[in-house]
Amino acid sequence: MSNQIKRPKGTQDILPSEAAKWRTVEDAVREAAEQFGFREIRTPDFEETGLYVRSAGATSDVVTKEMYTVSSTGDSSFTLRPEGTAGVVRAMLENGLMNEGFPQKVYYLAQCYRHEKPQAGRYREFKQFGVEMFGTQSPYADAEIILLASTVLERCGLENVTLHINSIGCPECRAKYREALRSFFLPHVEELCPTCRERLDKNPMRLLDCKSPICKGIAAGAPLITNYLCDGCREHFDALKEILTEYGVEFTVDPKIVRGLDYYTKTVFEFISQDIGSQGTVCGGGRYDGLVSELGGQQVPALGFGLGLERLIMTMEAAGVEFEPAKTCDLYIAPMGAEAQKKSALLADAVRRAGYAAETDLVGRGIKPQMRYADKIKAKFVCVIGDNELSCGEAKLKNMATGEETPVKLEEFMTGFSNLMLNEIFDGELGETIGRLVEGLEPAEEQPEG
Ligand SMILES: [Zn+2]
Ligand SMILES: [Zn+2]
Repeated sequence: MSNQIKRPKGTQDILPSEAAKWRTVEDAVREAAEQFGFREIRTPDFEETGLYVRSAGATSDVVTKEMYTVSSTGDSSFTLRPEGTAGVVRAMLENGLMNEGFPQKVYYLAQCYRHEKPQAGRYREFKQFGVEMFGTQSPYADAEIILLASTVLERCGLENVTLHINSIGCPECRAKYREALRSFFLPHVEELCPTCRERLDKNPMRLLDCKSPICKGIAAGAPLITNYLCDGCREHFDALKEILTEYGVEFTVDPKIVRGLDYYTKTVFEFISQDIGSQGTVCGGGRYDGLVSELGGQQVPALGFGLGLERLIMTMEAAGVEFEPAKTCDLYIAPMGAEAQKKSALLADAVRRAGYAAETDLVGRGIKPQMRYADKIKAKFVCVIGDNELSCGEAKLKNMATGEETPVKLEEFMTGFSNLMLNEIFDGELGETIGRLVEGLEPAEEQPEG
């Protein structure tokens, strides 16, 4: 066994027993996004490296430390998607969607790749759900994005989540803020970590989210962006707060949330869960009115959010959310002997064509191991077919939950089974009535023409 290849560090296998959780969450986020009018977009898993350098910034952690960059034959350098937004903007521009009227609203569910130190809920390959809206400055758009994120978290059963919002202004008001930060940090320059010392000149806002305890301590007393907003940015932020209040969405203004890149503007927000301790951010987003032009398009305002499904599912588990059980087998047909196996395969096929899940024996096992298998796959009904059943043309369908056995003619197997399933679904007598109705429904005969 020792020479078996292991999965790469920071990746995970999602086994069949876990996959249903993922499906539940993926369905929930898709449904919410579509109800808000977002349409799905799928872009390649890799893009030209330059795209991410332009969108994340050449000095960002993503670009300097975390990208999986590969080169194919020739000169091009490609990078596995480290985040979803840049590729979506590229695709919107390349396919002319920005000319089709605003707002444009898209969502994606995409694998992303970052070479980070693996930790709880953080992987090197992870799945990101994200939404992007283009072409509107209105604070109602910011509010709707936040409301969508909140709806998603609510439908995933998360209750201990708090919304933190901030405005980081526009390039004009940020220039003043940068100056203020620079003069604040300058007297402490010797105490700062080497990275921060380097950033102080070019991008002092990045110092605010340094993880080093010393930098964090100093940054605690730093001036707040909210005191430097220009009139336009302040009005936008005030309007957003008012709309959220109207929606009944609770929030905390948190001037500590910042984004270091120039194209981020105005609104930033985070949903923080109390269920998973210090790594609490489950969803983050905001406005990036400068990104589309940064990537070569017109000046088109944009906003959105991203949400890592690994983190979301981990939070749901920590919060004790119950997931829907995986869909199980409706009917297991246990054949005894070669003739019975032939019949069982045909019956199973008919059951599947009628829309139910059916399995039969494929390994030639005796009846006992077959029953154990039926138990394991949680079959709702089991039917044994042996020589007796074949010769009298009748078999018994056993309800595994109640132990009740119902005889059915093999000829009328499908009707009998459908009725039992309807009983299961509609609970008892109602099912029988519906079963009789369904049985009574004859396909309408076509009227001869003329
Ligand atoms: Zn401003
Ligand atoms: Zn630092």
